[in-house]
Amino acid sequence: MKQKQQSDLQIAIDGPAGAGKSTVAKLVAKQLNLFYVDTGAMYRAIAYKALKHEILIDDELSVSQIARTTEVVLDHSEQQIVWCDGENVTQAIRSPEISRVVSIIAAYVGVRERLVELQRKEAERGSVVMDGRDIGTHVLPEADIKIFLTATPKERARRRWIELVNAGENVFFEEVAQDMQNRDRQDTERAVSPLEPAHDAIILDTTGLSVQELVAEIIALTQEDRR
Ligand code: C5P
Repeated sequence: MKQKQQSDLQIAIDGPAGAGKSTVAKLVAKQLNLFYVDTGAMYRAIAYKALKHEILIDDELSVSQIARTTEVVLDHSEQQIVWCDGENVTQAIRSPEISRVVSIIAAYVGVRERLVELQRKEAERGSVVMDGRDIGTHVLPEADIKIFLTATPKERARRRWIELVNAGENVFFEEVAQDMQNRDRQDTERAVSPLEPAHDAIILDTTGLSVQELVAEIIALTQEDRR
């Protein structure tokens, strides 16, 4: 792994589904003029391609092969477009179907190795805020600031359900809560890079906190770090 430049700022934001990582990360990136890297979108893009090619999700070898040969590109414009082999999959990767299978393929070593390599390349572009499950523990172990966001399961499910309803999906709250619980269990229990806070992460419970309060808190941490 290339050593990080002294002048680059790296912020790692990890946590379970619906903890508010991407909302907060995008705003912090905008305010501090950093690249935002949504690593979950990369895992989702691989799940999308596997389903599109009718690969069995349980077939680790074939899915890992797909990961090695797929070009996943995150565009860093305001729209945050996700490209998968030249196809714009920004909307498609957010479907409940992808959410249900993504944690299965994210447990495969071959998939993780390939995506972690791409994620570290992204971080070489300069100062970055990256969100995911293993950023502080594995992808960017030297990150200046490591945040682990949490919220109660009910609050996280509520946020995700509202997001899906606003996107026009016809889903029941209980179904969203159950899928989220399954995904968190798979992410926490997997053998490779499970979801867990880094030993030097700051744990922030976002229940009852506004997005603005959280963003302000993270920006204040970067100012302390630079002093
Ligand atoms: O962040 P998001 O909910 O879009 O992530 C989708 C899934 O991708 C997660 O549930 C997890 O299985 C996987 N993931 C991961 N490691 C990351 C980012 C996401 O395993 N760094």
